[in-house]
Amino acid sequence: MREPMRVAEKLIGEHTLSGEEWRVLLENSDREMTELIKNAAREVTDSVFGRQVYIRGLIEFTNICKKDCYYCGIRKSNSCVERYRLTEEEILSCCEEGYEAGFRTFVLQGGEDGYFTEERLCVLVNEIHTKYPDCAITLSVGEWEKESYERFYAAGAERFLLRQETANAEHYGKLHPGNQPFATRMECLRYLKDIGYQTGCGFLVGSPYQTIDCIIEDLLFLERFRPQMVGIGPFLPAKNTPFESEAAGSSELTLFLLSAIRLMLPEVLLPATTALGTARSDGRLQGLLHGANVIMPNLSPARVREKYSLYDNKVHSGNEAAEHLEALRTELAKADFTVAMSRGDAPGFAK
Ligand code: SAM
Ligand code: SF4
Repeated sequence: MREPMRVAEKLIGEHTLSGEEWRVLLENSDREMTELIKNAAREVTDSVFGRQVYIRGLIEFTNICKKDCYYCGIRKSNSCVERYRLTEEEILSCCEEGYEAGFRTFVLQGGEDGYFTEERLCVLVNEIHTKYPDCAITLSVGEWEKESYERFYAAGAERFLLRQETANAEHYGKLHPGNQPFATRMECLRYLKDIGYQTGCGFLVGSPYQTIDCIIEDLLFLERFRPQMVGIGPFLPAKNTPFESEAAGSSELTLFLLSAIRLMLPEVLLPATTALGTARSDGRLQGLLHGANVIMPNLSPARVREKYSLYDNKVHSGNEAAEHLEALRTELAKADFTVAMSRGDAPGFAK
């Protein structure tokens, strides 16, 4: 058997590869091997989750951010962005609308906005938790002290998404300014896991300066860290950022990596991300066919969606919008998937 096929079979059978074996896979991914990996990943997903796709209601509650990640369209230094911040009442009415539509998970995502202090976020999380005790609350609000993460958890947030973006320290330094150290990102991820959050990390595929070595480090990091969720999506350039003229990441490589991650971490919650859905029109469906099992429709008020512009041409009005849940159901049913409106906890965390 050819070496790449042998390595692919090992990943399928043993769920682990060495750095050198990952290199063989990444450098020799021909059609036969990618098909093998894709089909095996979907089989594993079916055996763990069936054909159910977990649905999360995404609320992009502020695009104001004090950080300056070079890749991000809403970074502090982008003066061309029209900034917005939802009020607490608006956020609660997104939840209400989502709850009525059947959502049982809310993901509050935003820039690191100074208005949303630890205390205000705790009050907000507590209000949502008290009003909707049967729902899971996920936060994706960046880097905080350990005590703040603990208070958010005590207020009712059980899940947290914080991508490492890249597991290679040098590469991280090329994607972020010097006052955003790699060590802080890693420390935050450790805190989240230790506190007991269902923790999500992940990386940008095809970000500037990314090499195969970086991707290998990301995969090995995921294997060590064992997150409950992994979010990966292609890097997409954003206007008025230092990377505005860089090439977009490859959606094929993203799909291949989704399958590889599924095979390495069979029980992980793996979203087919909006970035993938933006990179290609069938991106989210292809994501599911490659081993993803989560979709996060947008519950934010329609008037702000365009302003949460992490990258150019971000989709915001098609089947990724929460109000088109029925259309999403129909689209997924064609590929034999069903929409699961349950909390969709990570295995081992079920309530
Ligand atoms: N501020 C929080 C944080 O950084 O974790 C949450 C919001 S942030 C916008 C969510 C994710 O968007 C980041 O983790 C990053 O990977 C992704 N993102 C930002 N800019 C992007 C781009 N140009 N292309 C693709 N994804 C991007
Ligand atoms: Fe802010 Fe997150 Fe964008 Fe970085 S990725 S600039 S922290 S919103």
